[in-house]
Amino acid sequence: MSKTDEKSAERVRKVLTQDLFVRAAAVNATAVVDEMRSIHNSFPVATVATGRAMVASLLMASHLKNNQELSIYIQGNGPLSRVFAEASFEGKARAYSTAPHLESPADSQKILLAPAIGIGLLTVTHHLPMGGPPHRGTVELLTSEIGDDIAYYLQQSHQIPSVVALGVHVNAYGRVDAAGGVLIELMPGHTEETVRKIEAAVKAAKPISQRLLEGATADDLLRDYLGEFTLIEMEHDYPIEYSCRCTAERVKRSVGLLGLEELDEMIAKAEEVEVGCDFCGRKYKITPAELEDVRRSVYKSSLN
Ligand SMILES: [Zn+2]
Repeated sequence: MSKTDEKSAERVRKVLTQDLFVRAAAVNATAVVDEMRSIHNSFPVATVATGRAMVASLLMASHLKNNQELSIYIQGNGPLSRVFAEASFEGKARAYSTAPHLESPADSQKILLAPAIGIGLLTVTHHLPMGGPPHRGTVELLTSEIGDDIAYYLQQSHQIPSVVALGVHVNAYGRVDAAGGVLIELMPGHTEETVRKIEAAVKAAKPISQRLLEGATADDLLRDYLGEFTLIEMEHDYPIEYSCRCTAERVKRSVGLLGLEELDEMIAKAEEVEVGCDFCGRKYKITPAELEDVRRSVYKSSLN
């Protein structure tokens, strides 16, 4: 099976329990996360952190509506600094971190994200279509291992108790051989019995990446956690893929964020500048005249 075939075969699987008190989503995103790794040539720590954020964004975005997107932004005081992942309802995802080549500590057997990310903030932004104002929620990082941080966000911002299990495994050559996750959310009116059943399943469940390495599918992951419930499958027929929607306009806007002083320095050099998209590495050339346009619009908005 080619990489593309494998990719197009995977979808976020969504279910509800028959009593409607639990909704859940699961995905095997191994190929998509490995594509992210190959685009950024990222080392294991960044691959695992960015991959987990990507899986979480795919799972959360699957509960949005058509043409809506969701982004996860992690900002810590550790050496990895920043991780950004974004996914659409339709399963298109992209991600990057600011330190893709961060080395693992020499004595580490297992990749721990907490020391790499440090303490900081998690921001989830829900982008609506048609340019309406996005909804944004920020919480402090709880463990900096990402899964628990997302669960904390869902509790704090949406009062939804949840289980967020994420797993990314990197092989001896630095490639991603397993990446996926499960998001289980308890809806209003759920009973203590529901909570007990899920807690027992969480205790018994093997790590996500181990299950994927054993050949488990997204449906198997759902059964690991919700085997005690009667499930109703919800249609969500979008193959997941790594996809960047960058345009020259968006890249110019990001150059505008450098600020007037830096723009003036660039303009003074009177040279064409090349700017790469953070998500896909695509290069855009910006001419001095375009830089001046960017400066004009930055200046204009600074007066408002
Ligand atoms: Zn791009």
